[in-house]
Amino acid sequence: MLNLSNVDVMYGKFVAVKNVSMRVNEGEIVALIGSNGAGKSTLLKSISGLCTDLNGEIVFKDEKMRCCKCHEKISRGIVHVPEGRKLFPKLTVMENLQMGAYSKCARKEAKNTIKRVFELFPRLEERKHQLAGSMSGGEQQMCAIGRGMMGLPKLLLLDEPSLGLAPKLVKTVFETIKKINDDGITILLAEQNTTMSLKYSDRFYILENGTIVNEQSKDSMADDSAIREKYFGLV
Ligand code: ATP
Repeated sequence: MLNLSNVDVMYGKFVAVKNVSMRVNEGEIVALIGSNGAGKSTLLKSISGLCTDLNGEIVFKDEKMRCCKCHEKISRGIVHVPEGRKLFPKLTVMENLQMGAYSKCARKEAKNTIKRVFELFPRLEERKHQLAGSMSGGEQQMCAIGRGMMGLPKLLLLDEPSLGLAPKLVKTVFETIKKINDDGITILLAEQNTTMSLKYSDRFYILENGTIVNEQSKDSMADDSAIREKYFGLV
């Protein structure tokens, strides 16, 4: 579904992502693992079109995407839920969700999609008239993922969905990500919570200093205790 070939991403003279080649197959949950500053967010931004200074090629559903603008990518089904949620704090939950229905097709489907979002996150329905900025961190994360779903993603990019959440809520968020995936939405997520990523993802790319240093599947990981210990803190 998504193929990156030899992608470099630059901020001025600084090369934050170097020579990355990776793929995401339709239906998968793939996790980008790496410490602070490894380049996870930059890589997601290059896929969604927020970072534009890049070399290499990004192909989505057999279409070259490197030069596409964000709005073109959204219309083709690439939706990004950024780190830190980036909600509109002075708008209500409902208004935030409606803002996510960007493309013509998404607007047409908005009523049905909102129903599904409320099934996945009943708390959002209870709070639909509350200002997003007054919600708890966990509720805001739900709203950000819900807003992403309103864009009718084929590929949903989730940047640190568990950041700053209590352990019980982290579990709920990952369970919901799995349900979204079961609805047929492919997921690429950047995470520092390696335990939950290991549990819920099909494959993993490990990033260090902007470079992919390892690729693992759930099965290969199960057989490789050295990798489990080095990158996931598990024996
Ligand atoms: P974290 O888990 O802390 O969010 P990350 O793996 O997502 O980290 P990035 O945010 O992609 O890492 O940052 C990768 C590198 O690019 C870092 O060295 C960072 O300082 C740098 N960087 C990120 N954004 C910019 C920017 N707008 N201008 C210059 N450098 C940037």
